[in-house]
Amino acid sequence: MTHSRTYPAPQLFIDGEWTNGTSGRSEPVFNPATGREIGQVPHAGWNDLDRAAAAAGAGFKVWSAMDVDARGTILVKAMQFIRERASEIARVATLEQGKHFKEALGEVMRSSGTLGYYAEEAKRAFGRVIPTSHGTRLSTIVQPVGPVAAFVPWNFPSGGPLRKLSPGLAAGCSFVIKCSEETPATACQIVKCLEDAGLPKGVVNLVFGVPPQISEQLIADPRIRMVAFTGSVPVGKLIAGQAAAVMKPTIMELGGHAPVIVCEDADPVEAARRSAFGKFVNAGQVCTSPTRFIVHESLHDRFVKSFVEAAEALSVGDGLEDGVNMGPLANPRRLEAMEELLADALAKGARLETGGKRKGNEGWFFEPTVLTDVPLEARIMQVEPFGPIAPIRRFSDLDAALAEANGTPYGLAAYGFTRDAATADRLAEGLEAGILSINHTGGSVHEAPSGGVKESGYGKEGGPEGLQSYMIVKRLSHRLN
Ligand code: NAD
Repeated sequence: MTHSRTYPAPQLFIDGEWTNGTSGRSEPVFNPATGREIGQVPHAGWNDLDRAAAAAGAGFKVWSAMDVDARGTILVKAMQFIRERASEIARVATLEQGKHFKEALGEVMRSSGTLGYYAEEAKRAFGRVIPTSHGTRLSTIVQPVGPVAAFVPWNFPSGGPLRKLSPGLAAGCSFVIKCSEETPATACQIVKCLEDAGLPKGVVNLVFGVPPQISEQLIADPRIRMVAFTGSVPVGKLIAGQAAAVMKPTIMELGGHAPVIVCEDADPVEAARRSAFGKFVNAGQVCTSPTRFIVHESLHDRFVKSFVEAAEALSVGDGLEDGVNMGPLANPRRLEAMEELLADALAKGARLETGGKRKGNEGWFFEPTVLTDVPLEARIMQVEPFGPIAPIRRFSDLDAALAEANGTPYGLAAYGFTRDAATADRLAEGLEAGILSINHTGGSVHEAPSGGVKESGYGKEGGPEGLQSYMIVKRLSHRLN
């Protein structure tokens, strides 16, 4: 299938209008498969952000007052538009982010379902009536928190915005959402589907610009009542600090460095196949990527052999070409990070089993890379790689493997492979992470809560908890006599 390389010009969307803003500034957007500029994304200036916050304030009044069914109808219609346009949205996502087309298409289809899920879930945002013996009737009322400032990174160009917009809109909130300047056109297409579905003006405002300027202005703005952030731990701490200074609730979905413990009784070939699949999705640029493989010594060599075979079987190239199943890294920062992490690990004694270098001179490709006997002192064992390098280590004692798995400041995802129910329980109880998977490395789902512990953040996205993140609870006591 031949895909067009035409790139739709991204714009800001403020108070129901598509605009280039008033700052007069913009920045280039690149195709990671070529490293060449494909367009410019306009920057919102102070006035544009002020207008966006005002629009979100006015939009909130309209949207939160609407019947939950009426809101749901618009969200379901937006889901349908996204699905009708999925091919085009995925094409644009591949063009600006790099992931291969089928992966981008899967992301669009899955994440659009989040709108449908929350359109229904919002109908079950019940308060409670609480028995009391003090002559009052006690109850709770749940309401949307208000206009939200949301910050979304570049690794899931369609899924990222929808993970925040779906529960928030269903709850009755409005948004000023800053999506990544590196993947702006996909976000525009998602917002266009909401607009076409009949979302009232001002309910979603989409902005791009200089990230620290935007977050500083919006978080301090009194019209904004909540902050939702996905991104790196250092930026998350900065944003959480800014929100704390004005006492605004936050959801922090930050990075991870997910351990995979492959126990003595696991099938090493199957565990390696599933691990490698999870590891190389989106060229390893997923916050829940399995990233540290801790394998029982009796299975180690067979696991490594199968993992290397799976890595070498990947066809790395331009994600819009047929047959490609791993695209480039999304930006040159990741390429540099891979080169640095690899050089450091090799210098400290790790063994290179396959890969290990940039692929070609055009674009930001890096070979699927497998390292063994990586010492714990290597930076890659502590720093989230966010790229296609898989460090593998061996263990003999499960308690020691658990201690190693828990030995970073991160606590987002963790994985285990075992055929024994008691061992699976031990892993589930012992791993310090918010998202646990046994015998697979599948990703997040919208019907269940996801979120980190330790420095990977707090708050939940997904499931009923994801809806509650965007709601406040009021206690009402009503004296009866
Ligand atoms: P980064 O930390 O500079 O940026 C991450 C995201 O935060 C980007 O979308 C950026 O636009 C935004 N951002 C940066 N500073 C901001 C600010 N002051 N206010 C508001 N938004 C701000 O890093 P990067 O180079 O884009 O990515 C590198 C690292 O970020 C990765 O190694 C990974 O650890 C992490 N990351 C995590 C996720 C995730 O899903 N949790 C996604 C992308 C990146």
